[in-house]
Amino acid sequence: MSEQNFSKLLAPLDLGFTTLKNRVLMGSMHTGLEEHPDGTKRMAAFFGDRAKGGCGLIVTGGYGPTERGATHPDTKMIETAEDIAKHRIITDEVHKYDSKICMQILHTGRYAFNGSPIAPSAIQAPINMLKPEACTVEMIEEEICGFVDLALKAQEANYDGVEVMGSEGYFINQFTALRTNQRDDEWGGAYENRIKLGVDVVRRIREAAGEKFIIIFRLSMMDLVEGGSSFEEVVQFGQAIEKAGATIINTGIGWHEARIPTIQTKVPRAAFTWVTAKYKEHFNIPVITSNRINTPEVAEEVLQNGDADMISMARPFLADADFVNKAAEGRSDEINTCIGCNQACLDHIFSGKMTSCLVNPRACFETEINIIPTKTVKKIAVVGAGPAGLSASTALAEAGHEVTLFDGESGIGGQFNIAKQVPGKEEFEETIRYFGRQLELTGVTVKLNTRISANELNNSDFDEVVIATGINPRMPPIEGVDHAKVLNYIDVLKHKKAVGKKVAVIGAGGIGFDVSEYLVHSGEATSQNIAAYMKEWGVDMTLKARAGIEGVKAEVSAPAREVYLLQRKDTKVGAGLGKTTGWIHRAGLKSKKVKMLSSCEYHKIDDAGLHVSIAGEKQILDVDNVIICAGQDPARELIEGLNKPYHLIGGADVAAELDAKRAIKQGLVLATQL
Ligand code: FAD
Ligand code: NAP
Ligand code: SF4
Repeated sequence: MSEQNFSKLLAPLDLGFTTLKNRVLMGSMHTGLEEHPDGTKRMAAFFGDRAKGGCGLIVTGGYGPTERGATHPDTKMIETAEDIAKHRIITDEVHKYDSKICMQILHTGRYAFNGSPIAPSAIQAPINMLKPEACTVEMIEEEICGFVDLALKAQEANYDGVEVMGSEGYFINQFTALRTNQRDDEWGGAYENRIKLGVDVVRRIREAAGEKFIIIFRLSMMDLVEGGSSFEEVVQFGQAIEKAGATIINTGIGWHEARIPTIQTKVPRAAFTWVTAKYKEHFNIPVITSNRINTPEVAEEVLQNGDADMISMARPFLADADFVNKAAEGRSDEINTCIGCNQACLDHIFSGKMTSCLVNPRACFETEINIIPTKTVKKIAVVGAGPAGLSASTALAEAGHEVTLFDGESGIGGQFNIAKQVPGKEEFEETIRYFGRQLELTGVTVKLNTRISANELNNSDFDEVVIATGINPRMPPIEGVDHAKVLNYIDVLKHKKAVGKKVAVIGAGGIGFDVSEYLVHSGEATSQNIAAYMKEWGVDMTLKARAGIEGVKAEVSAPAREVYLLQRKDTKVGAGLGKTTGWIHRAGLKSKKVKMLSSCEYHKIDDAGLHVSIAGEKQILDVDNVIICAGQDPARELIEGLNKPYHLIGGADVAAELDAKRAIKQGLVLATQL
């Protein structure tokens, strides 16, 4: 039970013509439900659950104002009376719970993958294969009309307002920055010309929609790219937006093409609220802050500090629909916290898959995955209290089964206890905390320090066994692999065995990267130190540098060790990492001078070091230690001699390519089927 009352976070916000019941905004996320054939029903359930869970104001995923402004050729547009009627089903569901909902209007400009992107100037984005067409003046007018038209359709569908996306390097932001706007007409050149698009869009929506319609403008407060706006320019833009009729200003940090992580797990919590704070005093309308705020405690602190009037959280609402109610009821220890991994949300959406959440596989599957009370109560043993076993045991108990959870270790969490040792992955502890509380709430009997055998299970009265015993680290058959200088990742991360100053890591998968990250740090993890983080990534906290970065040199502390990270494949090292996070891992190690090498053939390990051919060239790496991170095999020893019905989940089922996302989902889905 939390003592905190979250007085600021839960305070209503009076907007003059309407009042928001609290200071929590669920930020915009395109989920993929928009285009799904069953999308209306599923979005009504998805947003309805978040409204029921107490969120004051919800913003939908971005809708394109025109075909050329839409993200993809198959992006769902809102055109017909039937489309509007479908959206009323969604808004009705949200309004049932006294929450409000705005539609986001997102014009992607040169970031569009729709086959014919447009932009202020024909300058290609580094993250798009296609060069955009420069807009004519007539085209700009057409796009503005598209914004206004969509806002009116949203109003007809009973949305309480719209959010105009003016940040993250999208169309409106492309007009503001010299980087992307090199026009010499009335839409380019002087800053007042470059901000005219955003200002005109807001003014004309206000004129068309009337006074009683929320207009949120997402303002790029720090572009984090060369040629972005300066602090003074952003103030000028925000003030013009306010004058044009915006109700609220929301914060945007960094363009998509920026090479500074802004939301991934290694970004400190609330890392960018200092930016919003610097602008807030220049505006008279409420200002929202965002980025890596994932607990009510942090959100409250940000508001108490006066950094903003309201908090935007997006992914935390994938992780837990009841975030606000749990906080309000003193149950914040029951919140399933977003760990910033991006694995089931952003990585999915950028690979054309439906968004969900690693820690909450029900996100966006609210109508598909549901725990239904069982009619036949079974006695079930779940062996292994890693993510898979925790998910299965709590869900099985919630369904009404009698569940006993066994683990040989003294604590729950399985490999997450190892993962959380890695600098920047401390958030993984939150998932262990969440499940620990769920075990108490659902009444699972937990037996720790109990390595259970097939024989013991056979002689028990359990009806069924869930085997969630995880993995065994793979030991590759390299000559000398039993040499004293050879360790594996468990020796290093869990048993904290001493490691020398020069190290070769064999295997460059997720774990090889994590171990390298751990080894190059000398205990001064910057993951919760905002000032150190900004220094490391070259961000100017005085905001004197244009776009927060121009002319600023990153200051990276010297690596604690010299590390070689090796793989056999001839592909780029790290190519298999997460779509939206792989570049961050690579950039982090590069800045710490880790030598990432592909096309390696391992010959032997001896006193001299690791004998290896790299791209066919034989050499000896004279390292103090060789650390094996060569993948994992399922740990299924328990099956041998087990004569009870059993189910394999998590790493015990598939270790190759397996991750916690699959482990947690498999546990939950199994529980819905037993
Ligand atoms: P485990 O977590 O391995 O849990 C198995 C449990 O079973 C253990 O606690 C073990 O003690 C217990 N057990 C085994 N046999 C018995 C027995 N006979 N009796 C009782 N108990 C038994 N995944 C991601 O998705 N994203 C990441 O960023 C990520 N980072 C990682 C970083 C590191 C350093 C590591 C090591 C792993 C990482 N993973 C990551 C992988 C993730 O942790 C695993 O996919 C996940 O833990 C698998 O869950 P599991 O429940 O199947 O197995
Ligand atoms: P992995 O991703 O399978 O990587 C194993 C690495 O070892 C690869 O680089 C592989 O590359 C190498 N390898 C495999 N067999 C080998 C052999 N016999 N000899 C030498 N090298 C060999 O496994 P992992 O890094 O151990 O990760 C385990 C699981 O945790 C994975 O499912 C991973 O997704 C998950 N995880 C995820 C993250 C994340 O950020 N998403 C982070 C950590 C872990 P070559 O064959 O080219 O040498
Ligand atoms: Fe957060 Fe990871 Fe879930 Fe995305 S998948 S919402 S980053 S916990």
